[in-house]
Amino acid sequence: MPQPTHMEWQQIFIKDFDGAAALEIVVRTLIMFIFVLLLLRASGKKGVRQLSIFEVAIIIALGSAAGDPMFHEDDAIIPSLVVFAAILAFYRLLTWLAAKNEKFESVLEGDPVVIIENGEIVLNNKGKSPFAKDEFFAEMRGKGIEHMGQVRLGILETNGSVSFFYFPDEEVKPGLPVLPSTHTVECSEISEEGLYSCCYCGTTGPLHTGKHICKRCGQEKWAKSLNCPRIT
Ligand SMILES: [Zn+2]
Repeated sequence: MPQPTHMEWQQIFIKDFDGAAALEIVVRTLIMFIFVLLLLRASGKKGVRQLSIFEVAIIIALGSAAGDPMFHEDDAIIPSLVVFAAILAFYRLLTWLAAKNEKFESVLEGDPVVIIENGEIVLNNKGKSPFAKDEFFAEMRGKGIEHMGQVRLGILETNGSVSFFYFPDEEVKPGLPVLPSTHTVECSEISEEGLYSCCYCGTTGPLHTGKHICKRCGQEKWAKSLNCPRIT
């Protein structure tokens, strides 16, 4: 394959770019940025810590409409604004429909799902946890939860956050630690009798030495249970 010549490199990286073109890009970007801000304010949302899938779709559509006129000198700004108006109208219409009709809302946003109940992970009908455990373990640590026995109910919300409801201190029971594996005693063969929790579903009980298969999920990895109350 022949090496690109100096002219070809210039074509790839610079083309007709000069000071005037740079200034035009700066102005176009500024204008589009202001319009994006105005549109997001007009959407009625207060902040974007967590987005539902529906909102992510809107943002992607918006970003694509905003990006082109920033640096394509052939693209005028007004057509982009028409796209903006259409996106905003569409967003308003869908949220209005979702507020009117619960079925439509669950199609659009999904439904909250209970992932922890009485200190154990809720399994699907195949006996598996349908969620990325590490991710919501991190979420639990962020809320100051040390083990699952502290949690009465954990609900995965449609915006991706998890809501937790706790046992009062005197009702906390032994449960699966949610700490990183460096701070947990994990094993597949018990060498010391005691209380253990299944690493996959959180089922907790006394175990003798030797190997054990979890009656609830069929896995055979165990972690030493914790029983401390939650420090708030
Ligand atoms: Zn299990």
